[in-house]
Amino acid sequence: MTYDIHQMVPDRGLFRDRRIVLNEVTPSIAVEVELRQIIIGLLRAGQVEEAERLARAAKIDKSDLWRAAGAEPGSLTSTAVGRLRRVWGGLLVPVAKRFNDAFRDEEERHREEFTATARKALGVDLKALVAQPEVQPHIQLATRRNVALVKNLSDDVARRLENTLLQEITAGSTNRSIEKTISESFEFGKSRARLIARDQAAKFNGTLNRVRQTEAGIDKYQWSTSLDERVRSEHRVREGVTYNWSDSGPKPGEEIQCRCTARPIVEF
Ligand SMILES: [Zn+2]
Repeated sequence: MTYDIHQMVPDRGLFRDRRIVLNEVTPSIAVEVELRQIIIGLLRAGQVEEAERLARAAKIDKSDLWRAAGAEPGSLTSTAVGRLRRVWGGLLVPVAKRFNDAFRDEEERHREEFTATARKALGVDLKALVAQPEVQPHIQLATRRNVALVKNLSDDVARRLENTLLQEITAGSTNRSIEKTISESFEFGKSRARLIARDQAAKFNGTLNRVRQTEAGIDKYQWSTSLDERVRSEHRVREGVTYNWSDSGPKPGEEIQCRCTARPIVEF
């Protein structure tokens, strides 16, 4: 706790013995879109630069295999995949900068929404108390985590390309089929990018909710789900239930693809 929200309320008498549940801050669509664009942008840069070269290499590998017994299948394609990996590797630094900016913007938006909610419900002005430095380590952590996820994802796409192209080459697939395999591998990467973006937006929001609430001396929260059929059953039963931040177990938004959030409870 860095300050006590209860002590900050100007007219505490109004809230005597009351339990106020504040609105939860949910992840913004803007940050999800931005994260998605960063990841897909990186994958696309590799696709634009290297897809044709991959296809050409696979076609030559295939005809070499047919022409000469003993030709090494996939030698040119593995060189082409290596180039693709280097293109992606070279983009990780600018991508880290963009992630960092996206999380900074999202933190600012979250902070404004949190202070506005507290002002509306309790008449309290937290502006001077809630600042960015306290969450700076979380912004850095989220940036590093997202860079690692993008690196893993691009490695997965490269590995997938290498394996499937080798299969196509040795099977003597048509050129059309080779091209389709290449574009499918990139599409696989893009659909994974969408899942990562949504998940990471929710996770960062969950972290900010926990940090902002606990630093304000708020111990309890009410679990809030999206109230739709995609909510996992273990979380559906938690809807509206009160928890302590110090409880063990998962927190809202923490588990993979969890869209749940924490409504802060201020008790007087
Ligand atoms: Zn959930």
